[in-house]
Amino acid sequence: MSFSDLGLSDKVQQAVAAAGYTTPTPIQEQAIPHALQRRDVLGIAQTGTGKTAAFTLPMLTLLESGRARARMPRTLILEPTRELAAQVEESFIKYGVNHKLNVALIIGGVSFGDQDAKLTRGVDVLIATPGRLLDHFERGKLLLTGIEVLVIDEADRMLDMGFIPDIERICRMVPFTRQTLFFSATMPPEIQRLVDTFLHNPVKIEV
Ligand code: AMP
Repeated sequence: MSFSDLGLSDKVQQAVAAAGYTTPTPIQEQAIPHALQRRDVLGIAQTGTGKTAAFTLPMLTLLESGRARARMPRTLILEPTRELAAQVEESFIKYGVNHKLNVALIIGGVSFGDQDAKLTRGVDVLIATPGRLLDHFERGKLLLTGIEVLVIDEADRMLDMGFIPDIERICRMVPFTRQTLFFSATMPPEIQRLVDTFLHNPVKIEV
């Protein structure tokens, strides 16, 4: 199996080649074709399996069709920590090198000013930790009604950190018709409940 067999756009395939990847990892091979069909995906996978590309590459391909309404964000990636969110932003920039997308990193520990300015200018992609995302929402700076793809990454770490109520709130703020790509290393009952409530007929992939 090679990256050209997965249905990714030419722009994305060029970025993957520039990153030096020749073969998709198992999670990429199994998740990408379903994600491109706009199916919900439940990926049970650890860090280091290549799961960031497994959700980023199809997301970039899907973003090539359609366009933002009133410059509202079209995709939202939730991460449990600032560090993980910053790493995902780096990956997104690497894989999205051929795309002219505006990406905003919405994390705590930094002032609201730059984030506010970016949100006001309009962004395509939000990469966020749950608490700061909700802070912006409560300040009236954020509309999530244009979200087409929602990624919930490291869900079991979100649980350990007490973020499940925040995740539930955010899941109710995005359109019911969005696509959800959901990743967790383990599946404790609280996470299974979240999946049962917020994913629509997901494809389950375990690596
Ligand atoms: P992740 O699990 O997403 O944190 O990725 C782990 C590491 O694997 C990252 O440093 C990626 O750059 C790298 N990686 C992801 N996909 C591939 C691939 N198909 N071939 C080689 N390296 C990869």
